[in-house]
Amino acid sequence: MQTNILGYPRIGSRRELKKACESFWAGNITEEELLKVGAAIRQQNWTLQKESGIDLVPSNDFSFYDQVLDTTLTVGAIPARYASLQNDRMALYFAMARGYQREGKDITAMEMTKWFDTNYHYIVPEFARSQNFFLFYNKALEEYREGKAQGIETKPVLLGPVSYLLSGKEKEAGFHRLELLERLLPVYIELLKELEEAGAVWVQLDEPFLVTDIDEKTKKAYTEAYDAIRKACPRLKLLIATYFEGLRENMPLAVQLPVDALHIDLVRAPSQLDDVLAQLPADKVLSLGVVDGRNIWKNNFDQSLEFINKAVPRMGTGRVMIAGSSSFLHVPYDLDLETDEEALTPEIKQWMAFARQKVEELALLKKLAEGDRSLLSKLDENRQAMENKRTSPLIHNKEVEERCAAVSDNDARRKSPFPVRKKLQQQELQLPSYPTTTIGSFPQTKEVRSWRAKFKKGELSAEEYDRLLKSETKKTIEWQERIGLDVLVHGEFERNDMVEYFGEQLDGFAFTRFGWVQSYGSRCVKPPVIYGDVSRPHPMTLYWANYAQSLTTKPVKGMLTGPVTILQWSFVRNDQERSKTCLQIALSIRDEVCDLEQAGIRVIQIDEPAIREGLPIRRNDWKSYLDWAVRSFCIASTGVEDKTQIHTHMCYSEFNDIIEHIALMDADVITIECSRSQMELLDAFVRFSYPNDIGPGVYDIHSPRVPTVDEIVDLLKEAARVIPQEQLWVNPDCGLKTRGWKETEESLIRMVKAARLMREQLA
Ligand code: GLN
Ligand code: ZN
Repeated sequence: MQTNILGYPRIGSRRELKKACESFWAGNITEEELLKVGAAIRQQNWTLQKESGIDLVPSNDFSFYDQVLDTTLTVGAIPARYASLQNDRMALYFAMARGYQREGKDITAMEMTKWFDTNYHYIVPEFARSQNFFLFYNKALEEYREGKAQGIETKPVLLGPVSYLLSGKEKEAGFHRLELLERLLPVYIELLKELEEAGAVWVQLDEPFLVTDIDEKTKKAYTEAYDAIRKACPRLKLLIATYFEGLRENMPLAVQLPVDALHIDLVRAPSQLDDVLAQLPADKVLSLGVVDGRNIWKNNFDQSLEFINKAVPRMGTGRVMIAGSSSFLHVPYDLDLETDEEALTPEIKQWMAFARQKVEELALLKKLAEGDRSLLSKLDENRQAMENKRTSPLIHNKEVEERCAAVSDNDARRKSPFPVRKKLQQQELQLPSYPTTTIGSFPQTKEVRSWRAKFKKGELSAEEYDRLLKSETKKTIEWQERIGLDVLVHGEFERNDMVEYFGEQLDGFAFTRFGWVQSYGSRCVKPPVIYGDVSRPHPMTLYWANYAQSLTTKPVKGMLTGPVTILQWSFVRNDQERSKTCLQIALSIRDEVCDLEQAGIRVIQIDEPAIREGLPIRRNDWKSYLDWAVRSFCIASTGVEDKTQIHTHMCYSEFNDIIEHIALMDADVITIECSRSQMELLDAFVRFSYPNDIGPGVYDIHSPRVPTVDEIVDLLKEAARVIPQEQLWVNPDCGLKTRGWKETEESLIRMVKAARLMREQLA
């Protein structure tokens, strides 16, 4: 029996890669220094996995930014606008990821979107009709050799050719990206052959699109692709990895592909084991994804052994691998780093496992499955932890459970319909047409972050910290007034992260110190851990909302994170339905909304950027998810009077296909990301007339590039063609916390100018 890991986190156990990349971008370290940091991380990861007894240790799972972008570079699918950078691979790579504004050049970044239902963002490949591919850079080969030189035999991981094409977008009309397969395959074959020649034994080809709804054309593409690869590389052992869902009706296709092994996710789709055992041809190896790559709970050994013991008699031990359900990219590095018992009590900690612990679990499971009796005490320990969690009083709160049971449809509805509310709100707020606002956060500068760090370390008193935050908030309010924004925000300087900030104040949440997970590029998030029933012991945002509002007569938006997003960006309980946990959070947010209104806050924004990423991978499962997600938002947001204006904000997804459900959320205003995809979102409004107000983001805040006034005006004009002007707001496409003040100031001044130009045209 072999143990198999699909991928390992790569940001570094202390976020070394993040720091190195950011220093490199700032010009503070050289490329050579950056490369060294990458190499050190790879070596650490490989050594750890090897020494723990993992048989199939992944390589090429490392990336300086994103593995899909790596694939784009590997196969030379470099969009024409970057042609002038082709001679500097690193500059080219980061320009594709982040845009390039230097030496008089001004090149926009590639689009970014979420990787399936994770909070990981990848860089979307761009394809032209005449797209050519060539082996630009065999990164997989380089990393394979690097491991080998250290005496470590690794299994190179590649995004499979079909999933690679499907993850991209056609940038012109008249073709489908799968038609490019014929041109792409020779490049994959070339690079696989190089791996074969270098001595690679196993290669993992990730084909997560096999768990999605695919049509006949796609199925054909799969067969063609793997027939061709098999023929060209007869010796290489090919493992196709599927994850995040079950194969369902694609199972017959997947088991028949001419490869050596198939990996399935048994955490997300445990019931597919029977199907695969019945269908997998006798010469194939089955990789059982039993250790959760998406959550931080300890593996239930009894349950995993049950899967293994079911597979082994049918397959034979030689044909079974024990594996993580998906790459461990989506879980933090090492639970052993968590020594702060106040943040994470020993009782809760004993229920958890991070990547490093999951590696050990895999090694242990293998030994247990092989009947190693010396390890029975480990099995006992595991059983005890499971039992302790099941019965712990930390988890159950009777009051919360009763309140949830008493929720009715009336708790999910505003008092009056939108047109009535809009009038009342306009009387209250007196906003101009094309009202301007921002999404919430202002730059979290080094100073702001250093105050928080010092405060946490006790180097700054609570009074001093409070004074500093107030001065920053005041400066920001005054600046917004000065440049003429209409609805102001307090800037969110007191917040580390939009979910953590709330989780820290809610009951039922636990926290880690080093539990970082990559979100995009060098950005990491530290998801809270929801371990028990959720409730709100005290107001969470009132203090800062009150302070900010006291500084101005303009409306300041109260700023909250919505229940679906809090759920989606946390590690959730695996002992109850997500919908139930979401309802508990919704009730807590509802209380906060009512408190803000009571305090005189007239506009309240409840961010739900994650609503779409919670969508199940299969369309069949969408409706039931959307029903409870929308209802949760409504429960959180409808406790207020008609004259109180509720905003919501969404970003980084395509919302076109769920626009009807977004309308059902019935927020008075939605601000929504769409500048990076050139207002493609607006297509949805041609088809569906969105009933409430809407602010399509007019510039991309994820790049330091400052937009021109003309660009913004053009976007607004485009928007006004499909959305009635009375419904339009003007805002950036997301919060500004990752930006510097300089570009923020310039951009917003231009945005306000653009809004004024639009108003003048109305007059
Ligand atoms: N209010 C949040 C902010 O501005 C929203 C962030 C987000 O949508 N990701 O930072
Ligand atoms: Zn956003």
